[in-house]
Amino acid sequence: MDQLIPLTYLPTSVSIREVGPRDGLQNEDVMLTTEQKVRFIDTLSNTGLRLIEVGAFVRPQNVPQMADTADVFERISKNPAVVYSAIVPNAVGAKRAIAAQVEAIQIFLSASESHNQSNVNMSVEQSLSQAADIAAIATEADCWFDGVISVVFGCPFEGDVSISRVLEVAGRLLDMGAAQITLGDTTGMAHPRLVQQVILAFQERFPRATLRLHPHSARGAGLANVLAALQVGVDRFDASAGGIGGCPFAPGAPGNICSEDMVHMLHEMGIDTGIDLPALMDAAHLLEELLGRPVPGQTIKAGICQHLPSDGCPRPFHSTELV
Ligand code: ZN
Repeated sequence: MDQLIPLTYLPTSVSIREVGPRDGLQNEDVMLTTEQKVRFIDTLSNTGLRLIEVGAFVRPQNVPQMADTADVFERISKNPAVVYSAIVPNAVGAKRAIAAQVEAIQIFLSASESHNQSNVNMSVEQSLSQAADIAAIATEADCWFDGVISVVFGCPFEGDVSISRVLEVAGRLLDMGAAQITLGDTTGMAHPRLVQQVILAFQERFPRATLRLHPHSARGAGLANVLAALQVGVDRFDASAGGIGGCPFAPGAPGNICSEDMVHMLHEMGIDTGIDLPALMDAAHLLEELLGRPVPGQTIKAGICQHLPSDGCPRPFHSTELV
């Protein structure tokens, strides 16, 4: 753990799951119309992304921003190269997801008792029991599912979360047949050393399991945490176009890691993502237009390094930026 890991061990390619339409938009004050969401997702579908989290089948009164997820699924132009997923907290949500022809389900629950209560109004044990029901429903429908564990690196109510607790929950989800485990830094409490500590413990316990990191950047450590995870072999990450999302427990703080910023960093490091960065930046600009405000992402403001003119000033993306 204390040994420095040389950068030469970095993966050569990385898979990014775009979570802006769900994790991003569900934390935005501005509520997009179904039409606007469809436009945003259709733009994302043509960027080279292979995984897009479209929405959530949760109680509409709890998360009104996601109330139209079934309609969004029906109206998007599905790119056959993309897997469109949704998060689901219980069996009712799983049935709605299957009816909406969702291609992949993310079962989610928290590693800490109080965050799970606050988030889905259930104990962790009740969520695990629902997870077993969701797994059965998904398996019968031949739908791929994975397990997303929230507040793995710290809970806003309880503080530190024990690694053994995280591993126990992960083990239960893997036993149910989860195709991968996503470790969520839901409120941006992780730091690079902790990220490596948790991931190394996970890999030791579950050497054959597939792992994904869902980082947030509420305290600015997001891309540092991504690098820390890359160094210990993680090659799957969640990110959101424009870096939208925020965090309900840290008002004004940035949310998910910005997809364009992550892709830009990875490409500059020589790590392939399969994503067309200018096309992804177009999606972030569209998001600004739809939300009616600038998004937190940095690359759309500073420009792509390799596209910079010799004077070092970024080329304006929109002619209106000159005004
Ligand atoms: Zn999140």
